[in-house]
Amino acid sequence: AKAGGKRRAVVYSDVHRERALRAVRLEAELRRALELGELRLHLQPVVDIRTGATIAAEALVRWQHPQRGLLPPGEWLDVAERCGLMPELGAWVLDEACTLAAAWTDDAPRPVTVHVNVSARQLEQEGFVDVVRGALVRSGLAPERLVLEFTETHLEEVSDALLQDLVSLRESGIGLAADDYGTGYSPLTRIIELPLSMIKIDKRFVGDMLEDVRSRAIVTTLVRLGQSLGLEVVAEGVETPQQAVQLSELGCASGQGYLWSRPVPPEEFTARLLPGTGT
Ligand code: C2E
Ligand code: CA
Ligand code: CA
Ligand code: CA
Repeated sequence: AKAGGKRRAVVYSDVHRERALRAVRLEAELRRALELGELRLHLQPVVDIRTGATIAAEALVRWQHPQRGLLPPGEWLDVAERCGLMPELGAWVLDEACTLAAAWTDDAPRPVTVHVNVSARQLEQEGFVDVVRGALVRSGLAPERLVLEFTETHLEEVSDALLQDLVSLRESGIGLAADDYGTGYSPLTRIIELPLSMIKIDKRFVGDMLEDVRSRAIVTTLVRLGQSLGLEVVAEGVETPQQAVQLSELGCASGQGYLWSRPVPPEEFTARLLPGTGT
């Protein structure tokens, strides 16, 4: 039994080393990808659930890898975050998203906004506010057309300095959304201490809503909470018409999910999903 234990330990450390090596290689490749411009943004519409009209687009980063094809962030974003590439990557995403949105023609009654995900590291970074302002100035995008998404866990511990930054961003007209809402451990009261304009209900609850009464209770509660606090509410991960109907009955006005569209390249978004085009 002892020998077996030792053997397992050796195998484990090999696996460990292999994993570490892979992370190092990935890091080098990622740095190169940023330099060579291999990153892309895909856009997924946020829609008015009743009409299906696009009201916003969430920018989701992809890596156009020369050998391995289009890689979703799940496979590499945490490496970028751990090796300190996030400030640079995040700044690129902000610039690119604002530039794309600034080019959209705006004859819709309400201009289409662009949502950008912000990571914990990026948020902690000194000068984050200037990075955001810089992206707006360079692109010419109005601050009202930008929404920053933060996951709830990033918002559990907010320093006074960060809170001030968030307030100043919000006061300049930028939208602030609590992403994946309902999955963190922060008390419900957290939401009134932060200058948020929107909550996005996590797809886990939306996906289970029709079968699981507890998920439905959470969705119902979050929609009401949003309404009573004057926050916009977006349901994420809507995949079926039945879910859309249920959400609509609960009073949730906006949704996002495969039911309407997967994230698509910017050209396809502009051609097919902007109001006044195609469908
Ligand atoms: P997220 O912010 O919660 O983004 C939504 C994710 O759900 C996206 O995955 C999207 O493709 C997927 N999704 C959309 N509709 C549906 C649906 O109906 N059903 C299901 N099952 N999934 C749906 P994606 O693009 O792989 O991104 C994963 C996560 O990576 C994002 O989760 C976000 O946390 C992070 N991320 C993506 N782009 C960026 C970025 O530019 N910066 C940062 N910091 N994080 C990013
Ligand atoms: Ca998001
Ligand atoms: Ca989300
Ligand atoms: Ca997420």
